[in-house]
Amino acid sequence: EWDEWVELEEESEADAGEPTGPVPVVAVVGRPNVGKSTLVNRIIGRRQAVVEDTPGVTRDRVPYDAQWIGRQFTVVDTGGWEPDAKDRAAAIAAQAEIAIGTADVVVFVVDAVVGSTDVDEAAVRMLRRSAKPVLLVANKVDNAALEVEATSLWSLGLGEPHPVSALHGRGSGDLLDAIIKAMPEAPPVSEPGVRGPRRVALVGRPNVGKSSLLNRVSREERAVVDSVAGTTVDPVDSLVEIGGQPWQFVDTAGLRKRVSQASGTEYYASLRTAGAIEAAEVAVVLLDAAEPISEQDQRILTMVIEAGRALVIAFNKWDLVDADRRYYLDKEIDRELKRIPWAIRVNISAKTGRAVEKLAPALRTALESWETRVPTGQLNQWLTALVQATPHPVRGGRAPRILFATQAGVAPPRFVLFTTGPLDAGYQRFVERKLREEFGFAGSPVEVSVRPRK
Ligand code: GDP
Ligand code: GDP
Repeated sequence: EWDEWVELEEESEADAGEPTGPVPVVAVVGRPNVGKSTLVNRIIGRRQAVVEDTPGVTRDRVPYDAQWIGRQFTVVDTGGWEPDAKDRAAAIAAQAEIAIGTADVVVFVVDAVVGSTDVDEAAVRMLRRSAKPVLLVANKVDNAALEVEATSLWSLGLGEPHPVSALHGRGSGDLLDAIIKAMPEAPPVSEPGVRGPRRVALVGRPNVGKSSLLNRVSREERAVVDSVAGTTVDPVDSLVEIGGQPWQFVDTAGLRKRVSQASGTEYYASLRTAGAIEAAEVAVVLLDAAEPISEQDQRILTMVIEAGRALVIAFNKWDLVDADRRYYLDKEIDRELKRIPWAIRVNISAKTGRAVEKLAPALRTALESWETRVPTGQLNQWLTALVQATPHPVRGGRAPRILFATQAGVAPPRFVLFTTGPLDAGYQRFVERKLREEFGFAGSPVEVSVRPRK
């Protein structure tokens, strides 16, 4: 049984190359000074200092979070190549190639006032070979009179030019509409909205003390709430106020009525556990501190991790733990819980009430980690430093490069690394570990997937 989860883990590692619905990436490419940074500023809707006036400054692949009409995406400002590079056409081709590889949509910017140049035409040849959707932007169309200039860009063979003034905003709404239309199913922006009580699954094998704990917290806090304004609670759930906040313990009907687990086979008990975990945001996995950590305990932990729920491990029956047991328990924890060093642990006794008040803060911390969103800029600053300090090992004279990363989602945090090729499993784990070291995520699983450019 123990081997079973090891296998499961390896399996999920093999899957790790498949990202789960990453946020679409839009790359903005073009010659220097056509207004790419100004356009990116316009798209992300803030007038921050993306535009770098220092000539020759390389703003290579800087990603920003953006949204439009309720859709979110990442926009990558592919700043540039050295303006004085010997072979500019080759430089733009190389840059465009990287941008094309990582992007879902390419926005190709041309200065409509200058018109198309040799460099633009070189880039177009590259763009047309790719299967990626390309939107042609005729920038610096500051007024209607200049739209004529934009029309001449039809000659580039990229379809209809979108006349835009990145500087003044003219035409940028229409361009954003077109970008959204060209994107693969962009995930909707999650609305914060009104939220009911957080949903908790109280799980563990029979006799670890689940009903005792539920009774304890209900009694301790006295206020077993029947309803919270604006929410409906399933009758099989329990609404309990702990640590000054209501929590919805899902599928606890059986526990409350003290219907023994014996009423179902172990199979049904495990289905029920899986259902509760699925319905919850955070799981409290109860372990019996007086007993060795069992295979059944491991299976329940695996269910939580695989469901991507926040996790608090509560060692119950702590009143039975003496110095001797403590010694062995520490060893067991090192050995058996090695795969989840990030889980938050509390040592409690449902019987005496010991440390039960630690449960609510632990739940809150785990949920906070679970919903953490790392700003893209911060993420990539950290990643750049990491990759510089410890580059990917060279295999057969080649090493894949990580181009940039985005956070594709929360609950749990999901990250996508955009790379020039598949990463070594060991190196990917290294990045994951460092990601945790930097950003924490105590109490939450974290997913990292790799998207090699095509
Ligand atoms: P990049 O090198 O392609 O990123 O170009 P920048 O965004 O740095 O812009 C180059 C110059 O063009 C700057 O002086 C901008 O103010 C100017 N610029 C950008 N967009 C427009 C526009 O729509 N109209 C006008 N008139 N100038 C623009
Ligand atoms: P469940 O099957 O997980 O709901 O477990 P129960 O709450 O029914 O508890 C199983 C047994 O463990 C009962 O005899 C409880 O009295 C006992 N128990 C529960 N919590 C504790 C605890 O913290 N300390 C001790 N010593 N016994 C406990």
